[in-house]
Amino acid sequence: MTPATAGHGENFSLEHYLDPAAHTFEQRFEEFRPYVTNARGSGFVLREITGPAGPVVQVRDPDGGETRELIMLGSNNYLGLGSEPEIIEAAVAATREFGVGCGGPPLLNGTTSLHRRLEERLAETKGCESAMVFSSGYAANVGWVTGLLRNGDTLLYDEQSHASLYDGIQLGRVRSMAFQHNDLRHLRHRLMQVRWRNPGANIVVAVEGVYSMDGDIAPLPEIRALCDSFGAWLAIDDAHGTGVLGANGHGTAEHFGLGDGSVELYMGTFSKVFATTGGFVAGSRDLVDTLRFFARSYMFSASLSPAVVAAVLASIDFIDAHPERVAQLHDNTAYFARELRRMGFAVDPQTAIIPILVPQRLAVSEVVAALHRAGVFVNGVEFPAVPREQQRLRVSMMATLTRDQLDFALEQISTVARSFGFHPEQEGAA
Ligand code: PMP
Repeated sequence: MTPATAGHGENFSLEHYLDPAAHTFEQRFEEFRPYVTNARGSGFVLREITGPAGPVVQVRDPDGGETRELIMLGSNNYLGLGSEPEIIEAAVAATREFGVGCGGPPLLNGTTSLHRRLEERLAETKGCESAMVFSSGYAANVGWVTGLLRNGDTLLYDEQSHASLYDGIQLGRVRSMAFQHNDLRHLRHRLMQVRWRNPGANIVVAVEGVYSMDGDIAPLPEIRALCDSFGAWLAIDDAHGTGVLGANGHGTAEHFGLGDGSVELYMGTFSKVFATTGGFVAGSRDLVDTLRFFARSYMFSASLSPAVVAAVLASIDFIDAHPERVAQLHDNTAYFARELRRMGFAVDPQTAIIPILVPQRLAVSEVVAALHRAGVFVNGVEFPAVPREQQRLRVSMMATLTRDQLDFALEQISTVARSFGFHPEQEGAA
């Protein structure tokens, strides 16, 4: 009944690295030093970007030397809105009008007319009665889990859920059980277990629309039907589905043609397609009104700055006015995947996330560093964020990348894979 410690998804924990015998702080710092040095040396993390968040970014080399231009294949800024002139203008105008920040949490002095407008707009786009904005997606997940669930309630969640859901479960000491990833039979089994023990229990089933590591989609209609037959609520984290799925970019529910109010709790972030920071929860008016007072990550945390709120509002307008941008993202993903398959890589992306597996014998960080030197920014993901045999390059597509830029990136991936001996055309590459 406790959350798994080594889930898939982004349930990353430093506990996996540290020796529990390392008692003093000095011992722990010493033990961790090789990881930090390796990370800096190979450029795996903390790369310093020195210019705008476009499809091509300027990045300082990890040794602090040269600054180079890299093709960006490692950003959640899927639609390229992070550098869209009219969105930048909206943020600048809001700063002039409201100042740089609120200097307080929403229930005190942190609610401007912009915040209100954004909440109304989010409720409208999600087809819900109400919505509330948090300072991050992480805070939104921790907030609803701890604010909604009480003793006797049960949360059933997909094992590949994001770390923020796991943290909410632990913080709220919520009775919970994981079900196997996207496995409807296992979910049904879990629902039967809970109902058998406690016929009247409140049950919430938590899934992600799009899972962040593999980019695969939850079978939402079937999950909805299961929730209905067991009288359970459905909560969806659509961090990676919003702006990516559905003809109008409204997310996973739209992708499946599910109508308004198809989930009881809708959670999303502004850190992906909206390329800023923040998160939200949408649902019934009662749910939102309650969470405003019981979600401590909302009540005790300062509101988003007006610039961010205005940027998100302008982004929603932009997506509504430019469905072709969403189509462009799909085209780019399909093209990139097709070319990778032509090279022999086994990829079949359902969304804008394209994982390319790297054999376990290699250090992913070195492959990432080689691609950096070759002009491509891509993130590596390794244990414990994913199982060891599934370490990978995690390509995130952008709508604003041109064919030439994509071809360049494909060529570099091919060359680097060959130099590390994992190009599928090479013998014994796997
Ligand atoms: N949920 C999912 C599925 C995510 O991928 C993320 C971000 N990685 C979050 C929640 C947290 O969002 P944020 O970065 O806005 O805090």
